[in-house]
Amino acid sequence: MAAEILTIIELGNPVLRQKASLVENIQDDRIQKLIDDLTVTVTKANGVGIAAPQVANASRLFIVASRPNARYPKAPEMEPTAIINPRILGHSTEVVKDWEGCLSIPGIRGLVPRYQAVEVEYTDRHGKSQKQEFTNFVARIFQHEYDHLDGVVFLDRLESTLDLMTEQEYQKLMTNNTKNVNNSKER
Ligand code: ZN
Repeated sequence: MAAEILTIIELGNPVLRQKASLVENIQDDRIQKLIDDLTVTVTKANGVGIAAPQVANASRLFIVASRPNARYPKAPEMEPTAIINPRILGHSTEVVKDWEGCLSIPGIRGLVPRYQAVEVEYTDRHGKSQKQEFTNFVARIFQHEYDHLDGVVFLDRLESTLDLMTEQEYQKLMTNNTKNVNNSKER
């Protein structure tokens, strides 16, 4: 059956605040289809990650799909990866603050502190256990999506509401930063 674009639920929907349940049968057609549907949904929405609770399915499953796009022009390129029943085994002491958005909280960006690196364990879509370290932007995506499985959104992680911006002001800021970088190169 062909993959479908799913409806993304938004802040205020109680499913986003639920603790998601472990996926028991990864080979189940419904889970395999959910993985395909989430992958096309995140690509269509210019996201770099999406968690099952964001399509109102409270399962411990998410997709990390980092690649440069309109919302994240500097994202590194990787194959979309399904992360099932993940655990964070360890993390760096270093914490980095950077801008994040969320497909379930449209129009808002926030400066969110995250561990620079995380060591993780998860099951892949073939049912194989994987142990991996993620760093920088991909580690950020992982922590953001992982939070969704526990009913946590990036707004909960902000140090201050002063670290919030609308998408429009964020785009202006990014355009100005790029200009400044170019200017300094010219000098
Ligand atoms: Zn999100």
